[in-house]
Amino acid sequence: MRQIIIIGSGPAGYTAAVYAGRANLEPLLIASSVEAGGELMNTTEVENFPGFPEGIMGPDLMAKLQVQAEKFGTEVLYDDVVSLDLTGDVKKVQVGSGETLEASTVIFATGSAYRRLGLPEEERLSGHGLSWCATCDGFFFREKTIAVVGGGDSAMEEATFLTRFASKVYVIHRRDTLRASKIMQNRAFENDKIEFVWNSEVVAIEGEGAVSGVTLRDTETGELRKLPLDGLFVAIGNDPRTHLVHGQLELTPEGTIAVEGRSSRTNLPGVFAAGDVIDPTYRQAVTAAASGTVAALDAERYLAAREQAQHEALTLAN
Ligand code: NAP
Repeated sequence: MRQIIIIGSGPAGYTAAVYAGRANLEPLLIASSVEAGGELMNTTEVENFPGFPEGIMGPDLMAKLQVQAEKFGTEVLYDDVVSLDLTGDVKKVQVGSGETLEASTVIFATGSAYRRLGLPEEERLSGHGLSWCATCDGFFFREKTIAVVGGGDSAMEEATFLTRFASKVYVIHRRDTLRASKIMQNRAFENDKIEFVWNSEVVAIEGEGAVSGVTLRDTETGELRKLPLDGLFVAIGNDPRTHLVHGQLELTPEGTIAVEGRSSRTNLPGVFAAGDVIDPTYRQAVTAAASGTVAALDAERYLAAREQAQHEALTLAN
């Protein structure tokens, strides 16, 4: 049985692994079989991670974090967790290969998943002109007219990045002010290829085999209009990935995993949570990394206290 299993391979998971590894806990980190590295794998340049004044590409940062975690004895398993039993003293983690892994503690750092528009055409057109990842799919839209939905940092980042390929990028936002930070807003406003479509909601995605446009509803007048497009990128935020722990771990009203105060302690002893899965507010690579640190320290203290209690019980019995 392991002392610690970390589920998730974003900044929270790997930072927890660095700390747990340095505490000689020989962590096993379960990275997804297909999406290893978390959200930063779909990002271009990360400009705000301390210590990289020239910026660093998201995938490079994740590769460095993995090397650092492995340097201190972390074992990385590329598989998907399919079910969890976190209730007992021995935590059971079943992975896609069919194997059930056991540990005294689990750090749950599964991050968040792209939010969908909730339209019926989304499933059918996904990968056919409809995408959630500019860095993955931008290349396919050379000299095309495309749109990005959203008004946050992600939407600004995606739209700006996509102007490298597309001839025109609309940003469709449901209000007339952006949620994005000033620097990201300004970068988008100053880009000649970007045009903002304010107060507009996508109510339908057009296209049989591939996206050919969208139907927009004016959020003030209710008026409908069509906008012809070759591609559509959705960047409207993320939802915490908690489906594996429903019914076991308490959630907050925002849908994140509930933790005690500033700690990473969940409602179950020996189970800790870190990163975007507990954070409805900040959701930065550096806050996720810090949260991974907290989880590793909490797990280390839990294990030490348990060992001490067992030792005292044994001494008493003798
Ligand atoms: P976000 O800040 O939550 O913004 C989501 C945007 O999508 C909002 O403008 C929201 O509109 C809109 N939206 C949400 N649901 C929608 C729906 N169903 N239909 C249409 N529009 C919808 O999410 P984010 O942009 O992904 O950013 C998340 C976090 O990551 C933030 O803290 C951000 O700062 C950070 N981030 C940072 C960077 C960077 O620093 N380089 C890059 C990317 C992300 P309303 O504004 O009307 O709510």
